[in-house]
Amino acid sequence: TTTGPNAADEGNDLRTPIVAVLGHVDHGKTSLLDKIRGSTVIDGEAGAITQHIGATAVPLDVISDIAGSLIDPSDFDLPGLLFIDTPGHHSFSTLRSRGGALADIAVLVVDVNDGFQPQTLEALDILKRTQTPFVVAANKIDTTPGWNPQEDTPTLQTIEAQSERAENTLNQRLYEVIGELSDNGFSADMYWRVQDFRGNIGVVPVSALTGEGVPDLLTVLMGLSQRYMKEDMAVDLTGPGAGTVLEVKDERGFGTTLDVVLYDGVIRTDDTVVVGAKNDPIVTEVRALLQPRPLAEIRTEKRFEQVDAVTAAAGVKIAAPDLDDALAGAPVRVVRGRPEEEVVAEVEAELADIEVDTAENGIVVKADTLGSLEAIANALDEAEVPIVRAEVGDVAPRDVAVASTADDPKHEVILAFNVEVLPDAAQQAEDRDIRVFSDDVIYQLVDEYDEFVSEIERAQQTAVMDKISRPCRFRVLKDHVFRQSNPAVVGVEVASGTLRRNSNVVVFQGNEPKRVGTLKSLQAQGEDVDEARVGEQVAAAIDGPTVGRQIDEGDELWAELPEKHAKILEQELLEDIPGDEREALSQYLEKRRKVDPFWGK
Ligand code: GDP
Repeated sequence: TTTGPNAADEGNDLRTPIVAVLGHVDHGKTSLLDKIRGSTVIDGEAGAITQHIGATAVPLDVISDIAGSLIDPSDFDLPGLLFIDTPGHHSFSTLRSRGGALADIAVLVVDVNDGFQPQTLEALDILKRTQTPFVVAANKIDTTPGWNPQEDTPTLQTIEAQSERAENTLNQRLYEVIGELSDNGFSADMYWRVQDFRGNIGVVPVSALTGEGVPDLLTVLMGLSQRYMKEDMAVDLTGPGAGTVLEVKDERGFGTTLDVVLYDGVIRTDDTVVVGAKNDPIVTEVRALLQPRPLAEIRTEKRFEQVDAVTAAAGVKIAAPDLDDALAGAPVRVVRGRPEEEVVAEVEAELADIEVDTAENGIVVKADTLGSLEAIANALDEAEVPIVRAEVGDVAPRDVAVASTADDPKHEVILAFNVEVLPDAAQQAEDRDIRVFSDDVIYQLVDEYDEFVSEIERAQQTAVMDKISRPCRFRVLKDHVFRQSNPAVVGVEVASGTLRRNSNVVVFQGNEPKRVGTLKSLQAQGEDVDEARVGEQVAAAIDGPTVGRQIDEGDELWAELPEKHAKILEQELLEDIPGDEREALSQYLEKRRKVDPFWGK
């Protein structure tokens, strides 16, 4: 495809920019799309909004009608806007094209009352990563206390109709949105103050309920596309079509069909297409191209009407044989006019590009589409979590089988993003103690897994701590010898560290430890105890020494630390032991290292 400033004049056409709507749940994405879809055009001359498969086309003349004085249609030569109907960053990441985002531009919806929420931040991350230009729709302005709604009017006009108090409250909320954008590294301002939309994010105050600000939103989207994306929109609309699978769906009378968003060229009913699939790409003949029936004919039995050709950008349902293994998020290419192998290679290359790097050991990840699989793999990569198997599809018994061969309890895990866990798989996971985490928000899934890993690590540490000898310095109290020997029973006070039953007891002669016996039991107030902490006084029964010979009243004794344990304590557990134990450890190490500088290293 030729692109360049004059591309459109060199025999290329301008296609419709594709718009995605993202934002936190309940912030009004669906309502906003409904509002735009529902906008009726009163002026009879204008065309109409048309419903595609998975998308809604809003032609320029309709936008111009809605926007009124905000727009001069003669400033534009792009044909309008195509809104993807399924809002959310989930479908956004599904919809990829040639390694980038399929959507050319995005609307990030933020509820002005609720501000930035987890999915808002996740959407921002995705927009940043895919370098997709976007505007922020600061939604629900009608909920400002004292608001006086002006249906479907431009923002500045409705703000003029508000009381000073309502206007101030709204401004305050809007500035919070701008502040949060800036906290996340985006310079932003009210859209009417933005000069350069490449460096600044425009904030458009709207209400999906009353339609206030919707004229502005459409104007800004149209303006942005015209100004900065015209080159990308210059494509050969008679060339072989290229698109992305949005969904693989069974349709009565047609078998397995593909809902596709076409972003380049044209697709015709006599075309051969190549589709990305679970194994090798599918090569098949189009049987029918389907579009929803116009609203006026909704009463007819059949939901779809057959069309002969569809030109980008558009949503279309493709009926063809052999589509069962097609993957959501995979590329679709029309073969027309070039060797089939070339197109197959192109599709393979694009799929390879999405393929997730797997490690020999790691967790299992299942996701509903290639794009979401890629997004979650990115997030896991950032969190340094290895993946052993990454696939599109529901969690099946064979996934459990893979997870249960893991080398490490931290890897006996399946992350399921927006997919079902099949009943067999759920049962087997329970039997084999495989943890399955399901969520439809990526960062939550990663967080849940992180929490699980921390839990395991804490448990492992506790187990290690239980096994390991702990540093302790203690003293034989004066006038507290209850028995001379076999075993010696003396009152002791713990000076630092933790004294535990079964420890070997040493005395230092100079810096050389000399084992004098083993601590058989400890008693505090007549009760047997397993350990005594710093400051505590207990009766200690020590097997081995005789009081007055190997040990004596007032002597300083130590719990013996095997070199290996000292090393683990110093190198791995130092942060996890109390200060007084650290002190006992460092005194012990100091003594030992005076004789052998490398002891415990
Ligand atoms: P989504 O989850 O982002 O698609 O959010 P929805 O479009 O489903 O909206 C969530 C709720 O907010 C619904 O109850 C809507 O009626 C309400 N809502 C959406 N936009 C507005 C708005 O501009 N003003 C008011 N007052 N309510 C809104």
